[in-house]
Amino acid sequence: MTMPGSALSAPASPLLDPGLLAAAPTGLAELGRLVHEIARECADGLRGRGGPLPALSPEDLTGLVDAQFPDGVVPRNGAGTGAVLALARACAQTTVDLADPRAAAHLQPPSLAVAAAADVLAGIFNASVDTWDSGPYAVEIERRLVKGICGLAGYGPESGGVLTSGGSASNLQALLVARDAAAAKLRDVRSGGLAGFGQEPLVFCSELAHFSVARACAVLGLGEDAVRTVPVDGRHRMRPEALDAMLRRVDPDTQLPVAVVATAGTTDYGSVDPLPEVAAVAREHGVRLHVDAAYGCGALFSDRLRPLLDGIGEADTITLDLHKTAWQPAAASVLLARDAADFAPTTGLRVAYLNPDDDGEAGYDGLLGLSLQTTRRADALKVAATFLALGTDGIGAMLDACHDLARHAERAIAAHPRLALTAGVTLSTVVFRYVAGDPSASDHVNGELRRRLLRAGAALVGRTDAPGDDGRPAVHLKLTLLNPQTRTTDVDGLLDAVVRAGRAVEEGSAA
Ligand SMILES: *Cc1c(COP(=O)(O)O)cnc(C)c1O
Repeated sequence: MTMPGSALSAPASPLLDPGLLAAAPTGLAELGRLVHEIARECADGLRGRGGPLPALSPEDLTGLVDAQFPDGVVPRNGAGTGAVLALARACAQTTVDLADPRAAAHLQPPSLAVAAAADVLAGIFNASVDTWDSGPYAVEIERRLVKGICGLAGYGPESGGVLTSGGSASNLQALLVARDAAAAKLRDVRSGGLAGFGQEPLVFCSELAHFSVARACAVLGLGEDAVRTVPVDGRHRMRPEALDAMLRRVDPDTQLPVAVVATAGTTDYGSVDPLPEVAAVAREHGVRLHVDAAYGCGALFSDRLRPLLDGIGEADTITLDLHKTAWQPAAASVLLARDAADFAPTTGLRVAYLNPDDDGEAGYDGLLGLSLQTTRRADALKVAATFLALGTDGIGAMLDACHDLARHAERAIAAHPRLALTAGVTLSTVVFRYVAGDPSASDHVNGELRRRLLRAGAALVGRTDAPGDDGRPAVHLKLTLLNPQTRTTDVDGLLDAVVRAGRAVEEGSAA
């Protein structure tokens, strides 16, 4: 079989290939050719598609890939770059197509062309931001990027931050800082650990906070049981007076409040906890405040939605996922701290082969001390490239467009006799249900209709649990609208597809 682009096949020994290394002059020419060809294969692969997913079951896909790679994907002998193009085409044919307006399930945006292109820079030079000499330009750009975002969040000159692999990692690091700060009066937990630690640690967050908060507690030795869930109001926002009451009940002899975690943009509803009020309660009780704005961070760039984040500058630390509402290819999360000294437990780290003191004093310092990682990708380049090309206004306009789409979906759902709106729109998600003729079949019908759309590859809608008519968790559907080029007619079409699939499930038909 001739692979597409087999003219680019590997020479007998890769050591003799002048195009072997990306950053060498001939390598750059080869890279340009390959990227161009990969893009062409993707365009071809996408052309035959009928929706955001391939019409394949998980078993079908496994069979397909088995047939493509009978010897696996770690062969002893390579087949040259032709194999790469075949992989690119197959990927475009069968992966999720987030640029399809019918992809509306997750907080996973279609990535920006400018960001994906600039991300090639990270690959070409393979800079790492842990030490100055492993990636000087990327280190400098990350510092400036973080400063710029600190400014947008309302932080002053004392602030700092670091890029991480995701909101989960940012939340983990924020809680690490909070744990060590809270325990400091009693013990240096970083050195001494938590064994025999007398106090019961407590972390307060709303019942709609992201699960990564509880997982971080487990990782940090606080235990998932450290999490105290604060009730929410009718608009899915933490009730500050309930938080206050819970903090008043803390027994200082046996319990240690580690942090309050407010969510700015809950994953399902996009609801934003009342940040000024929550900050006031946390401050009154002397507890650190972390704001998880993994989803809501995009509002920083939008004049219309920015008021939702009023008060965010009062947080001690903030998580922002630019791979959600700034349309970056993953990974691009940021952890900010109002006081850069918060990173001290990590900045204190001195490693002879990476950042000796005298190098640091001479100005040769990287970002090792801000991160839980050592080798760390130059993710700041694609983000900076995006802001330089589109401006924060450009990103804000994208979020506004998605917000408009969500508002349209909200109205269409409310007006549809077979759909029931569960929650009003805050950012760009809409939670709703298909109204089953037999209410007792609602969970089955809603779950099955979503799978039916998945199987056909026709549409990708989200799913979650929300309180049903009896208050118990019930299966709901969710649109997460993150494609700013989607039209309102696309949203109408998506909702029609949901209703048709719901009817088909109820009628037990194959359609
Ligand atoms: C997505 C999300 C996270 C987790 O972020 P990852 O980047 O997926 O690790 C945390 N918190 C909230 C509110 C989120 O929506």
